[in-house]
Amino acid sequence: MNKAEELDKYGYIAEHIDPTLDLFEEIDRLKKEKNAIILAHYYQDPDIQDIADYIGDSLGLSQEAAKTEADIIVFAGVHFMAETAKILSPSKKVLLPDLKAGCSLADSCPPHLFKKFKEKYPDHLVITYVNCTAELKALSDIVCTSTNAVQIVESLPKDQKIIFGPDKNLGSWVAKKTGRDLVLWNGACMVHEIFSQEKITKLKERHPKAKFIAHPECEEPVLAMADYIGSTTGLLKYTISSEAEEFIVATESGIIHQMEKANPGKVFIPAPPNNLCACNDCPYMKRNTLEKLYLCLKNEIPEVSVASDIIEKARLPIERMLEISAKMGL
Ligand code: SF4
Repeated sequence: MNKAEELDKYGYIAEHIDPTLDLFEEIDRLKKEKNAIILAHYYQDPDIQDIADYIGDSLGLSQEAAKTEADIIVFAGVHFMAETAKILSPSKKVLLPDLKAGCSLADSCPPHLFKKFKEKYPDHLVITYVNCTAELKALSDIVCTSTNAVQIVESLPKDQKIIFGPDKNLGSWVAKKTGRDLVLWNGACMVHEIFSQEKITKLKERHPKAKFIAHPECEEPVLAMADYIGSTTGLLKYTISSEAEEFIVATESGIIHQMEKANPGKVFIPAPPNNLCACNDCPYMKRNTLEKLYLCLKNEIPEVSVASDIIEKARLPIERMLEISAKMGL
């Protein structure tokens, strides 16, 4: 099997790694040697978070990707995030430890279908959540994140008609918060739709002093139970400013690593999902491992590329988001 076939089949190039190597030291050495930067999403494994130069959510990572001076960006996240980095830094080499680190939410909105959907609403402006493909961003007027979605919508005139995609749960929450009537695309994230109201209710009964905090990608009935709703960064900040000692956390479980680091002594309980394995890990995010990260930095493969016409079209809505966010001090 040649390298292209191997990448196509597995998403990464498997190679024997000397078991005596200290991967943390090796990654650090390669990073300096190649002038590379590692950006990691909060949903990555703790080891990857600990070796990253920047850890954040979609907005923070986009901002970092836009200003980095590095020659190589290793994006420890999922494919659409690496695409965003490529759109903002087209001359840089963007690597993703596993090319098959995709996203169920991005997959729930195929660009050719969204294009037809958009044609039904010619006088509407299109706002898309950053968790979507580069092609979808290229069909949008403004991109947003869960941190700034409400403010982006509020920055537009009240009579402006808006299509919001691809996440229907985030869209409904934004519509409720802003009082706007948004046309929603029917997409969702499999991780955030998995939480069980019944199990959360029981957990709250067992931990009556715990604050229940949730990401706006969760379904409305789960959000209705929350003491606080916010982006991943918003949730992290809330755990720091809150006087509560216990938190039930309804989002991907990777964020708990940073919550524990920032709040020694406080207790974080992952909200229980509906499934039997009782895990709410994102299977796409968790495809990345320290070993794959090391190999991709060493061999500079897999690389994420985006067609130049898509880069041009997708850059504008991301830049609009970054401008609005900067104006609002987000
Ligand atoms: S948690 Fe959901 S939205 Fe985030 S990468 Fe995984 S599937 Fe996509």
